[in-house]
Amino acid sequence: SGRAVVIGASHAGAQLSAQLRSSGWDGDIVLIGDEPYLPYHRPPMSKTYLADTVGIDDLLIRGTEFYDKQNIRVRRARVERIDRAEQRVVLSDGESLSYDRLALCTGARPVRLGIPGAELRGVYYLRTAEDVEAIRADVPGSRRAVIVGGGYIGLETAASLRKLGLDVTVVEAADRVLQRVTAPEVSDFFRRIHEAEGVHIRTDAAVVGFEGDDGTGRVAAVRLADGEMVPADFVIVGIGVRPNVELAHEAGLAVDDGIVVDAQGRTSDPRITAAGDCVTYHDVRYGKTRLESVPSAGEQAKVAAATMCGKETTISALPWFWSDQYDLKLQIAGLNTGYDTVVLRGDPTTDREFACFYLRAGELIAADCVNRPQEFMFSKRVLAQSLPVDRDALADLDVPIASQLA
Ligand code: FAD
Repeated sequence: SGRAVVIGASHAGAQLSAQLRSSGWDGDIVLIGDEPYLPYHRPPMSKTYLADTVGIDDLLIRGTEFYDKQNIRVRRARVERIDRAEQRVVLSDGESLSYDRLALCTGARPVRLGIPGAELRGVYYLRTAEDVEAIRADVPGSRRAVIVGGGYIGLETAASLRKLGLDVTVVEAADRVLQRVTAPEVSDFFRRIHEAEGVHIRTDAAVVGFEGDDGTGRVAAVRLADGEMVPADFVIVGIGVRPNVELAHEAGLAVDDGIVVDAQGRTSDPRITAAGDCVTYHDVRYGKTRLESVPSAGEQAKVAAATMCGKETTISALPWFWSDQYDLKLQIAGLNTGYDTVVLRGDPTTDREFACFYLRAGELIAADCVNRPQEFMFSKRVLAQSLPVDRDALADLDVPIASQLA
């Protein structure tokens, strides 16, 4: 079967390499990544790796022995270029490697703020273990942290920094946190929880610049559009990600937001597959979709590996995601794009557990479940099998959720 080269050594790349072996690829497998660690779990970066004393060794997806035993060569380098005509990839250290099959698992990177002061020391982004290590080194000498962006990563980071005893302000340009991803009821819930934990939340607050501490080159405050200055010993910016599509684009592969793949994970070049955060595909229920989720990256990687081994499977997995903040476990099934109705089960204005169901033309398309694992399982099942739901029963805590599946 020759040589399989996988670019990007994180959730998608690690899963894809492992799956290639178990699907019967008996030639070389080379997994190339530009981070200094073996593939590690990224979700803990804003959670335990930031807030607790876990080491990176505790977060590796698989240990060294696994790659040795499976004869998967892990190569630390950056891929600079793909030469499709020659079927080679060119690395930053000058080496070039030929491939018979290639997989792109290049993921995504944080959107950068291009505003005055963005280059000051103490202005961070949070994606990699190295990002977190730099932030952690700043914590002991700091009292006040400002987080720009009230999305999942911003809110998780706020919870972690509170745990470390910092005074935390979240600054969000929209009129509510989680505005892009949840219903207003869910946004209000998370605002209430964070404020009860002592986090300051500023909505309708656009950041226009960072002010330095005279002469030190370090950030000292965040400037808002209305002129107000919010003091900060350091800042973490979490305003979304962009897929890493440049390699694919320069190689002439189809790109539309992410790298375009078919239901078998193939790009516009049949020798090249792609999986994970860098990928756009057509979902039967949700249309054009690019997901940023560990379970989806794993699922897409499995499909791509099977395709590389000449086996046909298709991407059919249901999108799902989770977020941990304080003692709360939010689990999300499906995508709520285009919902017309929200049904609440439980009261998010008073409780610490509830489910928010999203309906479109009477059909369930997504659910946000806070400390409600049964409602999450139920929603996954309904979505996977396109089952009908009864609005009144969904809202009625006296009707057991599972009884609707009967
Ligand atoms: P990535 O993890 O982005 O990995 C891509 C890798 O490729 C990187 O190591 C990158 O450096 C490397 N690379 C890129 N270009 C090249 C190149 N040219 N040469 C060599 N290497 C290259 N998801 C959840 O489901 N639940 C959560 O709770 C959750 N929490 C998160 C918290 C944080 C702080 C972050 C940042 C993300 C979180 N996510 C969560 C999202 C999840 O981490 C991503 O969906 C997942 O990491 C996607 O995996 P991936 O392999 O596609 O891409």
